Parts: sequence; structure tokens; C-alpha cells
Amino acid sequence: SGKSGRVSVDAGGAEVLARSGCVVHDDRLELRFRVGLPAKGRSILGRAAAGLLARDLPRALEAVRWASLDAEEVREQVLLVEDHHHLRDALAGRGLVAFVRDGSILPRSSGVSSEPLEGAVPFESPASLRVTLPTLHHGDVTGMGVPEGVTLLVGGGFHGKTTLLEALQLGVYPHVPGDGREWVVTRADAVKVRSEDGRSVADVDLRPFIHDLPRGRSTASFRTPDASGSTSLAAGILESMELGAGALLMDEDTCATNLLVRDARMQRLVQHETIVPLIDRVRELHRDHGVSTVLALGGSGDYLEVADTVVMMDAYLPHDVTARGREVAAEVPTGRAEEASRPPLAVTERCPVGRSFDARAGKRERVRSRGTRELTLGRETIELSAVEQLVDDSQVRAIGALLKRAHRVADGDTTLASLVAALIAHVEREGWVAVDDSPELAMPRALEVGAAINRLRALRVSQS
Ligand code: ADP
Ligand code: MG
Repeated sequence: SGKSGRVSVDAGGAEVLARSGCVVHDDRLELRFRVGLPAKGRSILGRAAAGLLARDLPRALEAVRWASLDAEEVREQVLLVEDHHHLRDALAGRGLVAFVRDGSILPRSSGVSSEPLEGAVPFESPASLRVTLPTLHHGDVTGMGVPEGVTLLVGGGFHGKTTLLEALQLGVYPHVPGDGREWVVTRADAVKVRSEDGRSVADVDLRPFIHDLPRGRSTASFRTPDASGSTSLAAGILESMELGAGALLMDEDTCATNLLVRDARMQRLVQHETIVPLIDRVRELHRDHGVSTVLALGGSGDYLEVADTVVMMDAYLPHDVTARGREVAAEVPTGRAEEASRPPLAVTERCPVGRSFDARAGKRERVRSRGTRELTLGRETIELSAVEQLVDDSQVRAIGALLKRAHRVADGDTTLASLVAALIAHVEREGWVAVDDSPELAMPRALEVGAAINRLRALRVSQS
């Protein structure tokens, strides 16, 4: 086969993730990898296999012995990861959603690469947003603090808004040395949300954003196999909150406009609106739910009305234009009124029932993934392209392994958030081996495991 004679190690990419391929015990290091025995057709080539197992593998293992490694390089990677966690845990205490160190290189060399762009403009914080944070191993670091509340990233097209936002969404993970984003650190509970035409939505209480559909149809338990731009975005926000999101990251490029804002003219023309756009909820999200929003925005200036902080990207460099934004908001009134009919901004928790996960079964419990885009569980394929904080195929495989167990926990009384927490806790307690023997699994966040379950077309829940 194609894998014949090949040794593959799931070393990962730019993000540093806990992996089943490498487990550090108190007294030893456990490495797990895949060896394809040399074969011709369906027969193993004995002599070649013996050479591989008895000669090549031991030699390869020599190369990863501590004595053969560049100890300084290894040490630096470990210290970086420790400082990433240290900074991440310090953000909330400083009232920050994220931190981007001066000198960071945010853009990638292409849309399909995670290599840094050569010759990029290094990041440099505006003075007014500059913070200095202590680290454990690298002294004080200085850069831009993204404050809690409502932050807009504005700027002309092609000036670096999306690039900054994408760096923030991946800042929930540590990065390898040399990546350029080693010192971009984002709160662990930050979630990128976006519109996702055609996804399924399973009995989400959408009323905070969408209420009273035509013909008296209620949205208290909204279910569809084919969501629109606005319903998928509303569901994404509410599902993320249900799973414990503390910050929402959004890009106007990928969000349905009608869920973001309804301007004065539309308010005048269309009286029977069923949508309460985010602009009328975003302050409440922060005040009443502690959920901050970072929104990359080029077109919807009405948002200046509700922003705490406005950062303008200009030729890839950020400027603090909060004060000017306030002036403009005062000089040019939007003419819009807050939507009159606004159901309470409440998140209804849901409890998955066990048979939601039956598709996993069949007799052989076939689980397959395609990159970070798709996860197939038995008869059902979960579409994951819009879950942008999944960064590694091995995270998707890991979600597959977790979902195979989900029917054991899902009893119709356990909330989705607790179900996901229980699945992850089991792995943390017992190790991946207890769940799945693949050497190619990487730990996803609870938020992404939940996002995958939310996209399961067979998902059945009872609202609690
Ligand atoms: P916007 O969202 O404002 O339209 P993007 O973030 O998509 O802009 O960036 C536009 C282009 O500029 C991308 O090709 C990106 O790689 C490049 N770019 C972004 N930041 C930098 C930077 N700091 N230095 C050089 N090029 C950059
Ligand atoms: Mg953009």
C-alpha cells in the first residue's frame, strides 16, 4: 500500500496541541506513531519488515533521545507554551480579551499556508492601547491589549482587518517558535462565529435574535436542516454562549448583514421585522452576560454608536480611533431606533438525548475525517468548515473518538455543556488510549466539540 514502509509521526503544525502521539509521564516519555509494514500486495515483505523494525526504527528513536536533541531549542518551545498559558490566564484580570505583542508577524504567506509572510509589516500597538504584561520566563512583554466590551476593527479593504481577527481566533492556542504569532494570546473562551448557509440547527431558542416568524411560527425551539445566513449566525452566537463563550469574534465578511444591523431606512420601510440585529444586543451581551465582542467591520458604520473601542487598521498598522469614532457618531446620527420588540436576551440550555448519536453505530462504528472540514460518523457527515478554530485534522479525529462515547453520557437530562465537559474529563483522567488507540489525536477545545455536536443532523435535545 501507499503507507508501506513508512513511519508517520503526528507532529502537528503551527499550533501546539496536546496529542495522543506524545504523553509525558513522571518517569518516561511515551511516543506513539504509525508504522506501515513493507508489503507487496497483501503479503508483508518479511526481510524488509525486519530491517524496518529492528534497524531503522531504533535508529530513528536515537534521534529523539534527549541527548540527541538541541536542548535549548526544546526548552524555548516549552517556555513559550508556559508563558502563553500564563498570559492567557492573566487577561481576564486585566480586563482584556486578547494581547498582541509588538513585533508579531500576523499574515501568512498564502491562504493555504500557515507559514509567516515574508517581508510583512510587524505589528505595532497604538500607544493608547499598549499594555505591558509580566511573563514567567521572558520578562515583561509589551503590545496591544484588546479590551473587554465591544471592539471594532475598522479600516479600508485590504488593510489587514481579517488578518488581525484571524490571528486573534488562533491566539487561543500556543504557537511554535518562529511562527510570528507566538505572542498573540486570546482568552481561552473566545469563539469565532459566522454565518453558515445550509447547516442544521437543533431546537435552539433563537428568540433573542429572531422571533415570531410568519404564520405564527415560534422560534423558541428552532429546528431546521437548512439554516439561512441570519438564522445560522443567530444559532452560532447562542450555541457558543450555551457552551460558555466569553468573547465572540466576528468578521463582517462572513456574517449575514441583516443579523448585524438594520438601518434607519429599512426600519421605516419594513415594519414587521422578526430580527433583533446584533447592534441592539451587543452592549447587553457584555453588560448582562459578560460576553465581549470583537467585530471586523468595513461597511456598517452604525456600530460606532455601540462601540467601546475602535481600532483602525491602516496599511497593516493599528490606530486607536475610538475618540474620533465617537465624534463621528455624534456628527452623523444613524437615524435608527433600537428595535421596539426585544424578547429577553436569555440562553436556553439543551440536553441531548442518547439516540442523537446512533448514526455513529452501524456495527462497525466507522468514523472518518477529511482534513478539518468533515467528520463522518457511520451514516452521517458533520460539516465543519465553518468551525474555524479547528486547526488540525487530529482534532477532528479526536472529536470523532469522543462522539463515539457520547451516547453513554447523553441521557436527555445532561446539558450539552456538561456532556462535552464529561467527555473531555474522561480523556484527561484516563488518557486517549482508553478512548481510542489512534496515535493521531489532538485535544480540541470543549467549544469545538460542542460545535460539532450542534452540527450533527441527527441531534435531538430536550430544552431544560
Ligand atoms: P481586510 O480584511 O482589511 O480587507 P486582510 O486582512 O484580508 O484585509 O489583508 C489583506 C492582505 O494584506 C492579505 O493578503 C494579507 O496577507 C496582507 N497583510 C495583512 N497584514 C499584513 C502585514 N502586516 N504585512 C503585510 N501584508 C499584510
Ligand atoms: Mg476582510
